[in-house]
Amino acid sequence: MTPTPLRRYAALLATYLRPLWRQVALLALLLFGNIGLQLYSPQVLRRFLDTALAGSALRPLGVLAGIFLAVAVVQQIVTVIVAFVAARTGWTATNALRGDLMLHCLRLDMPFHHTHTPGELIERIDGDVTSLTNFFSQFILLIVGNGCLLIGVLVLAAQENWRVGVVFGIFVLAALFSFLRVRELVVPHWVTARKSAAQLFSFLEERLGGIEDIRSSGAVAYMMGRLHLLLRGYLVATRRVTIFSQAMLSTSRLLLGVSNVAALGIGTYLFVHDVASLGTVYLLYAYSNMLVAPLNQISQQIEDVQKAGAAIRRADELLHTQSALVDGTRTLPAGALAVECRELRFSYGERTVLDDLTWQLAPGKVLGLLGRTGSGKSTLTRLLFRMYDPTGGAVLVGGVDTRDTRLDDIRERVGLVTQDVQLFHASIRDNLSFFDPTVPDAQMIAALHDLGLGSWYAALPAGLDTLVSPGGTGLSAGEAQLLAFARVMLKNPGLVILDEASSRLDPATEQLIERAIERLLHGRTGIIIAHRLATVARADEIMILEDGRIVEHDTRTRLADAPDSHFAHLLRTGLAEVLA
Ligand code: ATP
Ligand code: MG
Repeated sequence: MTPTPLRRYAALLATYLRPLWRQVALLALLLFGNIGLQLYSPQVLRRFLDTALAGSALRPLGVLAGIFLAVAVVQQIVTVIVAFVAARTGWTATNALRGDLMLHCLRLDMPFHHTHTPGELIERIDGDVTSLTNFFSQFILLIVGNGCLLIGVLVLAAQENWRVGVVFGIFVLAALFSFLRVRELVVPHWVTARKSAAQLFSFLEERLGGIEDIRSSGAVAYMMGRLHLLLRGYLVATRRVTIFSQAMLSTSRLLLGVSNVAALGIGTYLFVHDVASLGTVYLLYAYSNMLVAPLNQISQQIEDVQKAGAAIRRADELLHTQSALVDGTRTLPAGALAVECRELRFSYGERTVLDDLTWQLAPGKVLGLLGRTGSGKSTLTRLLFRMYDPTGGAVLVGGVDTRDTRLDDIRERVGLVTQDVQLFHASIRDNLSFFDPTVPDAQMIAALHDLGLGSWYAALPAGLDTLVSPGGTGLSAGEAQLLAFARVMLKNPGLVILDEASSRLDPATEQLIERAIERLLHGRTGIIIAHRLATVARADEIMILEDGRIVEHDTRTRLADAPDSHFAHLLRTGLAEVLA
């Protein structure tokens, strides 16, 4: 593990704490105030003891007791305020970092998302960052604050008697050394525990996502077996961390005992030799009590920084991952968009999926795209939507190379309905507008009516407020598809790409979908990956892909009329059986 450069710690602190400087200043003020109070209160007690032993009247004693009590109360109040402000600062700063990481991930390209599971990203956006909370809120303040407290105690103790200063000084060094040693033993176990947690989360996330398939395939027992293995790893790692944390606590108690004994020993010696009063002996004892806690906190901070180092490195690495898609500057023309591919080549990795595709589609025309499963149809639509860039050749939408076009423009002007529609656990309204509150209800209802969904909408129990259950399980595949159409309709795109779901629909839904497609394509360019004859009948042109190559591309009527064309063959044998 290479250490994270100090520059990185500083840069991160500066970026996220600068907007919070008022809170940080308040925190510093409170912490130092608290240190002052801590150093002051044993002095009050010493005066109390010495005054009492001198046989003083009750009044001055009462005043001293009152001061002592007041100091203790103020100290407790300040401690609570410090905890509040620190938590606020830490969480505000880390939430800003979480937000930045999330935004960055959303902007990263698809290959990145294919190689990082959602579980892993959750761990990086939230898990790692959570371990930075303390680093953001208290790190410097606690190190400096506790350092000052220690120095304060040492100076005040040495003022009483230089021997006490020397003994306390030696104790501080020895204790700090042992604290750091014990903590060094914890960190590797802590890292292992975090890794086990990440593994467990990504396992749960992935498996719960595929629950339907797992249940239907009878893989439940296997999954539970895997879960137990992961849980066992997590348990062992966490148990080790707990044991070492306990060792830490014991070390701290032991050291406290040692420091008390040292203080009482030297105090008694000084008292017996008439150098110190009984009050001073008590003062030394109280100061010896104040040595261990700051040492513990300092070593805790050092440990936290080591932990934070790993998290900072990972956050940093994520933030510096550049999207392979560089945003362009040109905008798309208004109205229906022409589509063109020039010697288009594409591979996900080693294997070529699209090979030398050259074709074009005039604005306003509808292309039916056919081909066996795995022939590259969905891949082609992903390139038109610029989720990936071509490996070779070019894709032009509206006459502009997609690499030169503003990404926002493509997302706005190209409407894509994929094979599996992603629905959110939210109202129909939010599912349609993608949580954009500026989209008027009337416009959504109009879009639903336009698509022929008026009666479906009227039957919804709470209209646009009707909640879609998690994962869209409350909707049939057909209804989900229709909702996706309405989303596209709201964008008013110039090119509509439909990756038709290959699942069979009941005749009523099929009819609804047919009508909806009709409205959706009106006045727009369309590319439809078709699995049904009805859809194909609408196309002006037909293109058939096989293993990433074009085997046929012409107008639908011409292909249907040519008896030995693939398309005519498909029509004769029935599309569904051949393409499924
Ligand atoms: P279907 O009719 O089943 O939807 P398709 O024609 O849409 O098939 P594509 O999804 O374009 O097929 O896939 C084409 C090839 O690319 C397939 O062999 C597939 O395994 C591969 N492929 C698809 N997505 C990826 C990916 N993200 N990473 C690597 N390979 C992929
Ligand atoms: Mg597909």
